[in-house]
Amino acid sequence: ETYSPSSKTIAAISTPQAPGGIGIVRISGPRAREIAGKVFTSKRGKTLDEIKGYTALYGRVHDGDEAIDEAIALNYTAPASFTGEDVVELSCHGGLYLLRRVLKAVFSAGAVPAGPGEFTRRAFLNGKIGLTEAESVMQLIGAQGGQAAKAALAGHDGALEKKIRKIRESLIQTAAHLSAWADYPEDDIPEVNEESLHETLRFAKEELDRLLSQFDAGRAIREGVVTVIAGRPNVGKSTLMNLLSGCERSIVTEYAGTTRDIVEDTVILGDVPLRLSDTAGIHLTEDPVELIGVERARERIREAQLILAVFDSSQGLNDEDRELVSVIRDAPSIAVVNKSDLPAKIDLEYIKYNFKRIVYISALSGEGLEQLKNAVAELLHTAGLNPAEGILFTERQRDAARRAGEGVDEALAAVESGITLDAVTVSIEGAISALLELTGERATEAVVDSVFHHFCVGK
Ligand code: GDP
Ligand code: ZN
Repeated sequence: ETYSPSSKTIAAISTPQAPGGIGIVRISGPRAREIAGKVFTSKRGKTLDEIKGYTALYGRVHDGDEAIDEAIALNYTAPASFTGEDVVELSCHGGLYLLRRVLKAVFSAGAVPAGPGEFTRRAFLNGKIGLTEAESVMQLIGAQGGQAAKAALAGHDGALEKKIRKIRESLIQTAAHLSAWADYPEDDIPEVNEESLHETLRFAKEELDRLLSQFDAGRAIREGVVTVIAGRPNVGKSTLMNLLSGCERSIVTEYAGTTRDIVEDTVILGDVPLRLSDTAGIHLTEDPVELIGVERARERIREAQLILAVFDSSQGLNDEDRELVSVIRDAPSIAVVNKSDLPAKIDLEYIKYNFKRIVYISALSGEGLEQLKNAVAELLHTAGLNPAEGILFTERQRDAARRAGEGVDEALAAVESGITLDAVTVSIEGAISALLELTGERATEAVVDSVFHHFCVGK
């Protein structure tokens, strides 16, 4: 498919719509310099046409005769710009009101409002960045933790695309060889060696499987993990939550049963943002108000992606502890054996029997926090994740990778069952096509649209 470059010149505020030091109005398209020239006058009387790409002029933005702001106009000439078009960026003083005035003047001068993600979309259509890169630009904008930003940056450098290309190249070579051999059996083309065919397919399969298995971990890092801190009253849930968030977020008291309401907070533990809620314990109670809390807590536990089950090591286990254990059975949980600074009375055998992962901690002193961090990273498989190697960022990418994997599976099955090599070729071609879709080289316009639909205006 081919896309025709747009003849319209677009503009938008490209910096976050919040008070800040500097705000940028970005103009992109064939008339960028001309339009900027109508609203911007340099101090030294030079025009944007007289200066080179990547250089700037200092001056003043105005709407007709009315002065708006002092500004720097940065000039990018096509194709050496983010969008691949002529681009002028007006860096202004940043107040939202002023920026809107500047933008309005730019519209009056002939630009049209940029749609969501339209700058990035044009960059894609002009071949400046790949589709997966565009998606990681978007991820970068929303990145939460340090690791998430790293992952998005790696995607930005094309790590995912590189990886996909490598898998694809090996499949393309194999498919080409197979069809050449099938089409001209009487020629000198060496017979396809079944072992090397196997090897190529297995390599592709392993790489795709690894990418797919890292998807959840990548998402955990990007979007955060819905986490519940569960346990009976007084085991130290609120204290743990405060330790994790580093501030007095929920009320800690000496009395049992006070954390009836659920407090929420997002904390970053290692590389993983945990979306914490400190629930009421699973009480054995008849008090109707408490029952509501207990029911809510159970619900939270069912929905949680991670449960920190807190126990008080200075006391023996009671029925409520055991109730909790039975409720979270099979859930992704870590036993947090708290108050390790006090003499231990807890039945550790019981905990060990019921939990794969146990961490001893003193929420009060912070002792054991590092172990908790490691246990969480291990459970969510975020520890071994190396974003620089490329990871799948979006459902769209995962779906394409999964279909590619299915194609490779079919091809492997066909090879093993001795079906004609034609069938193998068809399956491999299916996989190749899914991979082309993944990188955007053969994505339908609808797919491209839906990618950019999620951007915000100005990106
Ligand atoms: P929750 O009801 O589970 O939220 O428990 P809290 O966080 O309110 O803690 C109950 C009591 O245990 C408070 O007096 C805390 O100071 C105390 N506590 C919590 N964690 C520890 C700990 O690691 N060591 C000691 N010695 N006391 C703790
Ligand atoms: Zn949407």
